[in-house]
Amino acid sequence: MKRRTFLRLMGIPMLIMVLMLGVYGSAYAQNAQKPTIAILATGGTIAGAGESEVSSAYKSGAVTVDKLLVAVPQVKDLALIKGEQVAQIGSQDMNNDIWLKVAKRLNELANDPSIDGFVITHGTDTMEETAFFLNLIAKTDKPIVMTGAMRPSTALGADGPRNLYDAVLTASSPLSKGKGVMVVMDDKIYSADDITKTMTTAVETFQCPNFGPLGYVLNGKPWFTREVKVKNTLTSEFSIDKNTVALPEVVIIYGYANENPMLVEAAVKAGVKGIVYAGMGNGNPSTAVEKALAEAVKKGVFVVRTSRVFSGPTIEYGEVDDVKNGFVASWFRNPQKSKVLLTLALMRTNDVAKIQQMFKEY
Ligand code: ASP
Repeated sequence: MKRRTFLRLMGIPMLIMVLMLGVYGSAYAQNAQKPTIAILATGGTIAGAGESEVSSAYKSGAVTVDKLLVAVPQVKDLALIKGEQVAQIGSQDMNNDIWLKVAKRLNELANDPSIDGFVITHGTDTMEETAFFLNLIAKTDKPIVMTGAMRPSTALGADGPRNLYDAVLTASSPLSKGKGVMVVMDDKIYSADDITKTMTTAVETFQCPNFGPLGYVLNGKPWFTREVKVKNTLTSEFSIDKNTVALPEVVIIYGYANENPMLVEAAVKAGVKGIVYAGMGNGNPSTAVEKALAEAVKKGVFVVRTSRVFSGPTIEYGEVDDVKNGFVASWFRNPQKSKVLLTLALMRTNDVAKIQQMFKEY
């Protein structure tokens, strides 16, 4: 074969090879710049499937994480995604066992240098409790962002895909490091200590009633407007390890006009370690329930007074003598978060003064 013909023939495949290397090379370079985000899926309405696009009847946690991601291909532009199904429940079924499973997996992956941040998909019913639990237990400053949806994935105007995109975006940002566990929903970023669900059906259900949102998702970036003041993640003294298989039993008792001390008495009889009392106003119990709670303390049960009121602190030195009764005042933690904090506090101490201090710091 003539030299010129040979070069001409070889030139075409070589050109193709150079072009392919260029394409792969630039794709590799793009991926190398992208953070890796682990998505831990637990179920909830975000993974819910309904009977029709407009019906309000649906089943939580029916759709797997892979299918959720198919609905939001844009997340691949933000990050390399590693999806994992840790649970598949409606979050009303969240319990200590699943909390421990999620927390252990999160801490395991947090030690993996190839993971830059986390997104946890979760039902909205108990999102605030899981967020606060992980806020106290996760041992990392890598961004941890929880998200969910109020409309099932099959609904017209489903909010899950956008929330998932915003959550991955927030978890991918270096600005989100060291902020504790956050919840991203409806274009806003909330802190785990203050977030609460405020409306049963609306997409704009979440609020931080005491301190306002931590920030917003604006123009494709998280925009933080306040700092988290309470201890969390790496500054938290609470921890679990692979040997932690159970948590102390703590119950919540709700206060109301004409309330009956029998609920407190029944809880004590059942052998609970702690009672969170969601009292009226500044966490006030009726005279009869105050007496029953004081009796509970004498029997070795730990009592935290909190409030059924939507916002504001429950403080010592109000109408109840906490020191005389041996109660703890919850400050800014609502009943469900007080339960989480008291549970973890009881794994560290039996000193009421120390537990009171924890309620001011976390
Ligand atoms: N029951 C559902 C859950 O919490 C509600 C939701 O996700 O919005 O799993």
